[in-house]
Amino acid sequence: MAKGKILLVEDNKGQADQTRQMLENSGYEVVWVDNGMSAIKFAKVEEVDLVLLDLVLPGIDGNEVCRWLKLNDDTKGIPIIMLTVRDSVRHRVEGLEAGADDYLPKPYNEVELNARIYASLRTKSLQDELRKKNTQLEEMLERVEILAITDPLTELFNRRRFELVLDNEFIRSQRYKSPLSCLMIDVDHFKAVNDELGHQGGDAVLKEIVAIIRNSIREVDTAARWGGEEFAVLLPETTTQGAVEPALRILNSIAGYAFNGLGSRPVTVSIGIAGLPSTIIDKPEKLLNWADSALFEAKNNGRNRIEIANPEKSP
Ligand code: GH3
Ligand code: MG
Ligand code: MG
Ligand code: MG
Repeated sequence: MAKGKILLVEDNKGQADQTRQMLENSGYEVVWVDNGMSAIKFAKVEEVDLVLLDLVLPGIDGNEVCRWLKLNDDTKGIPIIMLTVRDSVRHRVEGLEAGADDYLPKPYNEVELNARIYASLRTKSLQDELRKKNTQLEEMLERVEILAITDPLTELFNRRRFELVLDNEFIRSQRYKSPLSCLMIDVDHFKAVNDELGHQGGDAVLKEIVAIIRNSIREVDTAARWGGEEFAVLLPETTTQGAVEPALRILNSIAGYAFNGLGSRPVTVSIGIAGLPSTIIDKPEKLLNWADSALFEAKNNGRNRIEIANPEKSP
């Protein structure tokens, strides 16, 4: 197997033959083209490990070819070594500015050519390796970030994430004087469900309840597992009266659902609603507290029902 595929861009047939011979002696596969346009076309569609690029070419010169290859996403990773007889500082700088990775003045001998190619290929493979590791790290980080905000059982947002969303929506609601509502949902007598189905059966019921909650709210709403068998939903641009509609959908869908293993015995939830605008609710925590008190009231008033907090009227 060849050590690598090298694209040789050289308009002088004699020099090209000589260089090709040296490269093939060293075990490289060589593709030769004699002008810049063919070089660009070839590098774009074929796998190339390195380009040996003559500076002086008819038509587009080496620097332009180099610039083009380095600007293009498909080809910018290919190392380019510029070849030229004109070993002046100015030309070297121009070549490097165009993005060349290295520079080899003609005439060169086999040892020098091989050393430059070896160094460029090694740099390239180290860069590839780094890039790969970086991508793996980024993917891992993303997974960790998702895990940190997700409840593992239900795959809903967890409390931490909910509080962040709430903070943002609260500020937005205050700034634009738009309504914002929060539902606190707690499963009624869930201990009895666990007693009947066992903990795993109880888990399955929680997942089914989450599916119903998800289906009852809009894309812009945020549902989270607040803890245990308690869920919170944030409804932007929704008054407490407007929130009754999705709350009722959740309440009725759950009460009417035949849960696995429970036969005809229904599972119900109680829901507390609180919302903005309100002169009393001036902090995100207060919105949660008021939704929680309304939930408490719903429990006291017999469960399987909705209560709306009214902080303005409360003593
Ligand atoms: P109510 O809310 O109507 O007053 O009654 P409850 O029986 O639901 O009340 P309580 O809040 O005291 O009990 C909640 C139960 O939920 C207790 C706990 O074991 C159970 N629970 C909490 N988290 C989970 C969970 O992740 N999986 C299962 N299976 N059960 C859970
Ligand atoms: Mg030339
Ligand atoms: Mg409960
Ligand atoms: Mg509870």
